[in-house]
Amino acid sequence: MASVVLNHVSKRFGGVSAVEDVNLAIGDQEFLVLLGPSGCGKTTTLRMVAGLEDLTDGAIYIDDRDVSQLPPKDRDIAMVFQNYALYPHMTVYENMAFGLKLRKVPKNEIDQRVKEAAEILGLQSLLMRRPKELSGGQRQRVALGRAIVREPKAFLMDEPLSNLDAKLRTQTRVELKRLHQRLGATIVYVTHDQTEAMTMGTRIVVMKDGVVQQVDTPDGIYHRPANEFVATFVGTPAMNLFDATLTRDGTTVMAKLADQAVKLPEALTPAFMILMDAAVTLGIRPEDITLVQDGRIPEGSLPLTATVRLIEPMGHENIVYLDAGPASFVVRAPNDWRGGVGDTTTMGLDGRQLNAFDPETERSLVYGAGTGS
Ligand code: ATP
Repeated sequence: MASVVLNHVSKRFGGVSAVEDVNLAIGDQEFLVLLGPSGCGKTTTLRMVAGLEDLTDGAIYIDDRDVSQLPPKDRDIAMVFQNYALYPHMTVYENMAFGLKLRKVPKNEIDQRVKEAAEILGLQSLLMRRPKELSGGQRQRVALGRAIVREPKAFLMDEPLSNLDAKLRTQTRVELKRLHQRLGATIVYVTHDQTEAMTMGTRIVVMKDGVVQQVDTPDGIYHRPANEFVATFVGTPAMNLFDATLTRDGTTVMAKLADQAVKLPEALTPAFMILMDAAVTLGIRPEDITLVQDGRIPEGSLPLTATVRLIEPMGHENIVYLDAGPASFVVRAPNDWRGGVGDTTTMGLDGRQLNAFDPETERSLVYGAGTGS
């Protein structure tokens, strides 16, 4: 397997800047996920690595070799797309063997590679079937098999699971992760689905408007988001953001939200001290807020009074939407939480988990868990 490096890579389509100055070093055996909303440039980035799109600027290296000018067939990489067009008149075996036949790989070697891939993907009993006799998930596995038999330096995958129903998607996600571990493959994977990114990626690249926002591990993306976009794009429901003003009262720091004020935990004071008397955007995830039921506010929590606006019962939990002055909050409450729309309640915000962002630049100033940026 291989390392893939993108060096100041840009792509413009006429006046549209699809990808802007992307720098990435993808390590051998990494599962790197390009994540972002529709139109953010993920597919274009992947297509440039594959050689299906010319670069406007920059260079791409595979195993230290500049491949920027090489046609796709000479880059030794395999692509798996959302629309995995299998040949309908060929069996599963023939579909997987076809590319190798074209490359004039000896017959016994083709047979060995196809059977190995079939075993990895659990397709042994389906080798003689035609695509129309397979389920969507099985077809997707054949498409993966076709890529695996080529033994490429890297796999490039563009939303390969998006045609599958929810259950099959979860199952195939697990299979893909296992496959990555088993093959020790370098995989670059495009998706707009944050769950896929969080569960499969060794690292995630979050993109917006052609620009990389952050490259980090799933944990880093979730707990140390570089800016408001990353903070709110990853996580369901999204992180709550609200405007506050920070003021000092003696040695403590108060965050003022409309007519309410909360005292920030002492551990956070040094990090927030530099932001004194400034408007700031604070962020807290829905799981870091407790809805106080018995009047006892959890230790370290910042109490804010709020009104319940909407409740979504999910079975194992409730997603509760509340208003506190001008700010709206969404909270994950346990399923034994008892409350109704219109109730006035106290939210306990876990002070250690507060994030702060610059309201102008939207960049992160303070991360949660009390760690200063
Ligand atoms: P999606 O998730 O919808 O596939 P994406 O993040 O993969 O989106 P790209 O397909 O890379 O986004 O597109 C990035 C930008 O480049 C978009 O604004 C798109 O309209 C534009 N674009 C892509 N291909 C072309 C093209 N061939 N000609 C002109 N503009 C293009």
